[in-house]
Amino acid sequence: MAAPGVLPMRPLVLALTLVAAGMAPVPALAQELPTAVTEITVDPQEAGGAIVVIHADNPVRYDTFRLSAEGPVPPRLVVDIEGASFVPGVLDLPVGDGGVIGIRASQFSSVPPVVRVVIDLDSARPVRVLDEVPAAPIRIAIGDVDELGATPGETTEVTPGVPDPIDPPRPPTEEVRPEQALHVLSVDPMGFEEGRVSFRVTLDGPAEPVYFAQATPCRFVLDIPGAAPEMTLGRPDGWASVEGWIAPGIKSVRVFEIPEAGKLSTRIVIDAERLMPYDLDRDPTGPHAWIFSVMVDPALNRVVVIDPGHGGKDCGALDDSETFEEADFVLPIALRLRAKLIERGICPILTRTADTTVDLFHRPYIANQVDAELFLSIHLNALDVGSAGGTLTLYTHPSSAAFAEAIQAEVAGVLGLTDRGTVPMRDLVVTRVAEMPAVLCELLFIDNPGELALLHNPQNQEKVAQALADAIEASLESADEG
Ligand SMILES: [Zn+2]
Repeated sequence: MAAPGVLPMRPLVLALTLVAAGMAPVPALAQELPTAVTEITVDPQEAGGAIVVIHADNPVRYDTFRLSAEGPVPPRLVVDIEGASFVPGVLDLPVGDGGVIGIRASQFSSVPPVVRVVIDLDSARPVRVLDEVPAAPIRIAIGDVDELGATPGETTEVTPGVPDPIDPPRPPTEEVRPEQALHVLSVDPMGFEEGRVSFRVTLDGPAEPVYFAQATPCRFVLDIPGAAPEMTLGRPDGWASVEGWIAPGIKSVRVFEIPEAGKLSTRIVIDAERLMPYDLDRDPTGPHAWIFSVMVDPALNRVVVIDPGHGGKDCGALDDSETFEEADFVLPIALRLRAKLIERGICPILTRTADTTVDLFHRPYIANQVDAELFLSIHLNALDVGSAGGTLTLYTHPSSAAFAEAIQAEVAGVLGLTDRGTVPMRDLVVTRVAEMPAVLCELLFIDNPGELALLHNPQNQEKVAQALADAIEASLESADEG
């Protein structure tokens, strides 16, 4: 199936040029950013430990994460301050007291503006951020420090030894880097156009990327299994950041390597302010390139997951002549449905947006990770008898029955087909594993020539998508009332 989900993009050369030249770009965004990080001070405590204070002229949002020691690089606490500029430019402050070796800070990213503060620690000490987000100043207690009026309810524990599962394990040292045939050569921003930001991931061979998103913290994750990052990962913390994104709602893009089963994979993480629809598709202009794009505009809130069945190596059911594949029909319907949901202010996340392979269990996993309110899997039926027909909606948990009824009521009949009703089915992976009302709709029988003929007509695809959108919207409304 051709790639319907990706819009043509042209690179945003201006922003990239400014970043490359080390100049501060002046996007519209910058005019709305009065916040400045003005100063960073360290106050070693007599009883041991220290208080680090990051001064800002307005309360700022920030994220923290810890990195363990690696070779000569000490353990570190990283504080990323969002939407801020760093007035001193670059800070490299040796401390040598209170458990703090030194503090480094700089403008980590200009678009979006992020100030990164790295606190090098002399050992894996406990660290507590004393101020809730947003804060000005941000006070961080290094070691066993418990003053400054911090009460247990107000502290944010940054627990050593419990890494964020998304963030990278330690990259292997040079000696143990496995030989690999597949590499990610670059991750290039492609700019902001038609309400989307996009980037291109270029590889030197064929890959099967896997993506998902998370609601908390909000981010999009794209993994390229078995592809080692060849792009510069020269940062002291082993990460690369991708500059050149101009888009409200996108906070940062990070690239790092993850060891898996003796191999390296590449993980790309887009930190965002909210969930948004997104696409992954092959780049038609390159042999081994992919384009990942996020629809930042318009802002949408209620998240539903749409699962076009099969795809990639799994073509699904076939018609009688074995010419047409189920996977190729459900995707355009899902894309039409997505457009209709966006028009209604609903945020649809698709489990696939192109002819790609997606593991069966990964589909409900995506829905669970984004805290979707509804999960709809779209399929075509087949019985190999050629005469069976009609629309059928399956579900597993009783809590999904009402959503199944709503889908079935709207869809059955829209094409004038037999209403086969809703059927509970205990072991249907996608509806069993999903943690929200989840259904699988068998729109019609692909091996019934009369029914398949209906789907060749785009107007009928549109009717089905409309019916599905109506059922989803009604189900969200009744969830509000219930
Ligand atoms: Zn199917």
